[in-house]
Amino acid sequence: MIERVNTLSAGGPGWTRPSYSDLESAAHAMIEEEAIALGLTVTRDAAGNLFARMRGADPQAEPLYVGSHLDTVAEGGAYDGQAGVAGALALAAALRAEGRVPPADLVVVVTRAEESVWFPVSYAGSRAALGLLSREELQARRVDTQRSLADHMRDQGYDPEAVATLVPPPPARFLEFHIEQGPVLHMAGEAYAIVTAIRGGLRYRSARVNGVWAHSGAAPREGRADTVVAFSDLVMAMDRVWADMLAEGADLTVTFGRVDAASAAHAMAKVAGKLGFCLDMRSSDARLLDEADRRLRVEIARIEAARPGIRFDLGQQSRSKPAALSPAMADFVARGAAMRGDSPRRMLSGGGHDAAAFATAGWKSVMVFIRNWDGSHCPEEGMDFEDLALAVESVHNSLCGEGSP
Ligand SMILES: [Zn+2]
Repeated sequence: MIERVNTLSAGGPGWTRPSYSDLESAAHAMIEEEAIALGLTVTRDAAGNLFARMRGADPQAEPLYVGSHLDTVAEGGAYDGQAGVAGALALAAALRAEGRVPPADLVVVVTRAEESVWFPVSYAGSRAALGLLSREELQARRVDTQRSLADHMRDQGYDPEAVATLVPPPPARFLEFHIEQGPVLHMAGEAYAIVTAIRGGLRYRSARVNGVWAHSGAAPREGRADTVVAFSDLVMAMDRVWADMLAEGADLTVTFGRVDAASAAHAMAKVAGKLGFCLDMRSSDARLLDEADRRLRVEIARIEAARPGIRFDLGQQSRSKPAALSPAMADFVARGAAMRGDSPRRMLSGGGHDAAAFATAGWKSVMVFIRNWDGSHCPEEGMDFEDLALAVESVHNSLCGEGSP
């Protein structure tokens, strides 16, 4: 299934299936075909999210939704999203092959538009499914086509008007298999893990430092307002803040992901009077993001006082909420893993996932990370099918061993 879906790509290197593109729709159609072949009942909501339902023994029992997404970043990898959809289908296929009826309804879910590189909206598809996508967000423009999310939905045969008033399914259980996208499991030699929380972020996407342009040979050291030096001060200060907060036991990452001091106005023989940058801070605890932000402002005030002529302008702040996943669902996965002699570690997710949207909407959500290597969001992204199979087997055990949920 993963190989079939990956025949659909706008071109290499790697795989490119933009959100709400014909390619993403074609990938969804492939899953629909597989689901129907397994005897599942397929429906789609107004935003084009796909639900394939296998009836459980007890219609009153809380359904288990299992799934992920099929869009990719530009020149992305073979498994980010695809592995989760394949895992969900494998679970349904195993139950069918054994002639087993799950205790509760099992719903394979394939979301649309998870990768926020196309539209500047987090989890557009799953939040639409959950009735949480606003009319304003439907007007967000895709970075390449400059056309709105609503227009792209319409192009693919869906109904943005109905999305704005969509009544979501009642909160149930949600499980997402996904590659780790980091080196932890690969380095530790562990096949899979249980995710207990998804980090949220606090971002300044277009911050700048303002100083004074000057001649590199003529301007004396005193009196310069050099934005490169002031920015370096801030980078080193925030690296210390990060180390201090880690030492205090905080969960935090601090990244200056883009630095712009190479405009047409910048040159070798000039003191830089302007500099642009991005700052991305992530944590599983929103209060720690507030604390890091407070310390950032203290450092900025200190640098501005020490360097006359320097002014920082952070610009607009954007945030995504940290999502605590369900301890009960983590235990549910752990029970099935124990049945095959595994004790997967519990860990945080640094990247955002659809499971965060479900958790925020009050669903009992959990993720199962699959070991991967050579990074993610890149053509080299590696994964062993055997690792995914072990994780699916554990959840299969959990499901079949649970009796009445
Ligand atoms: Zn993903």
